[in-house]
Amino acid sequence: MKYKKTGSCLCGKCKFSFDTENLEIGACHCSMCRKWTGGLSMAMHINSPVIFEDESFVKWYSSSEWGMRGFCSECGSNLAWSMKDKSMMCPSVWSLDDDSDIQFSTEVFIDEKPKYYSFANDTKKMTGAEVFAEFSGE
Ligand SMILES: [Zn+2]
Ligand SMILES: [Zn+2]
Repeated sequence: MKYKKTGSCLCGKCKFSFDTENLEIGACHCSMCRKWTGGLSMAMHINSPVIFEDESFVKWYSSSEWGMRGFCSECGSNLAWSMKDKSMMCPSVWSLDDDSDIQFSTEVFIDEKPKYYSFANDTKKMTGAEVFAEFSGE
């Protein structure tokens, strides 16, 4: 089953769509995501590209050797985390036009989560080391 999702930034200059085979999202508690989003990253995990209607306002910030973070250069909205070769993208759940069917399934970098909050949702929790081990095993 394939689902087609659409989304945009706050000002609407960056509109996008993508196909996904699941509706699960993961939250990332790492310090980089918290700095970047001003909250925490809750994103989908897709192996197909995010298609932007017009890329002229989409800026990619190189945040590590392998990853980059896309945002709107007009309004600053976070749009997606992506592998540099765009083989895997994580569009932000907050940018979706319809998130009514989304399922919150995973929390990663649980070892970097600040003590002052925690989710009551029943999720699979992974440390940063477990995330890197899964990636290198693929
Ligand atoms: Zn914008
Ligand atoms: Zn993160």
